[in-house]
Amino acid sequence: MSFLEYAPAPESRSVVDIAPSYGLFIDGAFVPASSSGGVFKTVNPASEEVLAEVASAGAEDVDLAVAAARRAFGPWSALPGAERAKYLFRIARIIQERSRELAVLESLDNGKPIRESRDVDVPLVAAHFFYYAGWADKLKYAGFGPDPRPLGVAAQVIPWNFPLLMLAWKVAPALAAGNTVVLKPAETTPLSALFFADICQQAELPPGVVNIITGAGETGRALVEHPGVDKVAFTGSTEVGRQIARSVAGTRKRLTLELGGKAANIVFDDAPIDQAVEGIVNGIFFNQGHVCCAGSRLLVQESAYDEVLTALKRRMATLRVGDPLDKNTDVGAINSAAQLARIRELSEVGATEGAERWSPPCELPAQGFWFAPTIFTGVTQAHRIAREEIFGPVLSVLTFRTPDEAIEKANNTPYGLSAGIWSDKGSLILAMADKLRAGVVWANTFNKFDPTSPFGGYKESGYGREGGRHGLEAYLA
Ligand code: NAD
Repeated sequence: MSFLEYAPAPESRSVVDIAPSYGLFIDGAFVPASSSGGVFKTVNPASEEVLAEVASAGAEDVDLAVAAARRAFGPWSALPGAERAKYLFRIARIIQERSRELAVLESLDNGKPIRESRDVDVPLVAAHFFYYAGWADKLKYAGFGPDPRPLGVAAQVIPWNFPLLMLAWKVAPALAAGNTVVLKPAETTPLSALFFADICQQAELPPGVVNIITGAGETGRALVEHPGVDKVAFTGSTEVGRQIARSVAGTRKRLTLELGGKAANIVFDDAPIDQAVEGIVNGIFFNQGHVCCAGSRLLVQESAYDEVLTALKRRMATLRVGDPLDKNTDVGAINSAAQLARIRELSEVGATEGAERWSPPCELPAQGFWFAPTIFTGVTQAHRIAREEIFGPVLSVLTFRTPDEAIEKANNTPYGLSAGIWSDKGSLILAMADKLRAGVVWANTFNKFDPTSPFGGYKESGYGREGGRHGLEAYLA
């Protein structure tokens, strides 16, 4: 089968001006790291080109950032909610005004397709600030008592898969509730958080209300363990989440954790198959599968298996893998060499354990980190690829006969972040959703996000909710 060829449609890189080096954003100003810190480089995963050198915060820098946030907390929390809202609205508008620049920057540093950073990440980032701006003067109506109080200084540590969006999920509710923030972005994607710091300056946010400290795991550890923080919010791996839960236990710090997932995307034989296939593709190949709530386990009813698999393979053959800045690209670069190695390793294990591996023919660029969209069939629940999070464009396909069997298999995981159901029967969808142990259940769609909707997990996927009215609770006493 041959497909129409597309002409290249590159977004212009010149809309973003990346400096050769960046300092830490502490107390409203960019400063170099102290002698306890250092520097590291951030690369474009699609080309391995160094984008910038970034400061790595050491213990002294963490002290300075927490102290700045502490000083800012009194005046910031004393502002009337309507005044805090003005800053948040201003930030939201600046994000919209600078959306093209932010989208290109995010695609350069992360490797995600520009179509996604432009149409999903950045619009959602602005929407989160707009949404929580609206709450800032209505906190006493949020359902957490007549006089909810902010907690103080929030230490926030985020991963690399949705750098600016995870920042928005954490910073917007924290500020709306009157807290101040020290945020550490992931070491492979620090740039959009640093551009956000610039946006805070542009919005004339009072110094110290938002502090951005870059660095790797050690910087994150120093931040969450700092005695001067009142609240820890972490998104990342279950392993690091466990370490943080241990270090915070016995302190007065409040904690929310958003961790991994291994979501079941369940397709019944009465589902609209073409729509379901779009949902399967979106569920696992969106953002290269670097999605905690990715539909990484496809459960197909046996009676629809052949039809679904044939349609899925046909659809996968049309996915365009390549330059993240090309507007036609569906699947971009894997975020780092380390992540690529993890995806390769687990995929090898899948094949050795006896599952059958399939990818459409696709030419991968010579430079950069790439992995072809892949499915494994003949997967059993005992296979590692059915149990462990791969966090890449790799789908494990299992089958079921009855709704009960689907529930049992879907819930047979230590995680519980999300799930999808595809069926024509509303009653079946509702009955299934009731029994699925997952924080979010999508029906006849997948990977849909909205600031008004709470998001979070069961079991090893973490605790606490981000988004919606529920998301405020994590930042209020
Ligand atoms: P990671 O846990 O290694 O890193 C996440 C962040 O934590 C990074 O900023 C890192 O520097 C920092 N960090 C590392 N060690 C630390 C420590 N000891 N103390 C404090 N901070 C530390 O995870 P990752 O590889 O960046 O992200 C992938 C994982 O994140 C996946 O497992 C994915 O499922 C999960 N994730 C979950 C959600 C969610 O909402 N539940 C969202 C995105 C990603």
